[in-house]
Amino acid sequence: LAGVTVAGCAVASVMTPGTAPRSVQTTSRTAVRADRPEDAVSVDRLKATMAVLAGTSAIPGGTLIPERGGIAGRELTRQFLISQLQEYGFKVERHTYRTNGENIVGRLMATTPTDEYILIGAHLDSVNNHGADDDGSGSTSILETARALSLMPDRKVNIMVAWFDEEELGLVGSKYLAREYRKQGLNITSVHCIDMMGWDSDGDRRVEVARPEGDLWTVYQHVNETHGLKLPLSRVNTGSSDHVSWANEGFKSVLLCEEWNGGDTTPHYHRKTDTYETINFDFVAAGTKLMTAVVSDLTRKMRGPAPQPFIPHNRFPGRDLHCH
Ligand SMILES: [Zn+2]
Repeated sequence: LAGVTVAGCAVASVMTPGTAPRSVQTTSRTAVRADRPEDAVSVDRLKATMAVLAGTSAIPGGTLIPERGGIAGRELTRQFLISQLQEYGFKVERHTYRTNGENIVGRLMATTPTDEYILIGAHLDSVNNHGADDDGSGSTSILETARALSLMPDRKVNIMVAWFDEEELGLVGSKYLAREYRKQGLNITSVHCIDMMGWDSDGDRRVEVARPEGDLWTVYQHVNETHGLKLPLSRVNTGSSDHVSWANEGFKSVLLCEEWNGGDTTPHYHRKTDTYETINFDFVAAGTKLMTAVVSDLTRKMRGPAPQPFIPHNRFPGRDLHCH
């Protein structure tokens, strides 16, 4: 029996022969204010999740995730994320493709039945390193967003949370998943990805909003203002992450990122030194609150801002590598 602290709650893992690990929370979860689920975002919990993903704390059972590029590390990562998500009330499925490729998808159905979904996502793999910023930060962030949304009393849209595999090999996992959901004709009305949200050396909390399709740029600015988050936002044309896979299949998508274009981005990018210690957790929390607030407003069908004419992405700065 080993324990890991998540949520400021002691979580003990209990193994029963022949069943998946079961987690027991020793403190209860309280509902959040319906219009401010982002208040439930906790820096301590973000730290605890990141510590596991970046291999500084053990998963229940006592194993450290070695790195998230190889088969073993990615599978341990999936098992950890699945157990957390199930604790928050999500139904989780594995989406396998090719050889050894496997995305995770969790669904939380709306409190009012509907066929509409909003998807939030990040990539679970790394370039055979700790991958704390890339993309432990996004992976941590969407888990926390999923938890906050699960506490909302009134949801008019189903929530999907997805961790994409093999992003670093060319957005592979997200490509297969987006294609699959397009073929199924799933009614996903927006897709919100997050990749590299843990670096803010100048402390300005500026978040880049990359390739916001449809009305999403207006929505992000509106929610940032109405929820009083006061984050400086930059619209950019970054294309090298999973949001592109969704846009290519016709879904309305966006990516949130640290200042990849603005030049305030981790110097440890794709290096062995992309570790837990380098992460700015207040900034991870800021990005998480923004995503949570936006998705919660969309989930409650809040009246949005007045429509604005769409401006093409190439009017905004973009700096692309093969993939994030
Ligand atoms: Zn990345």
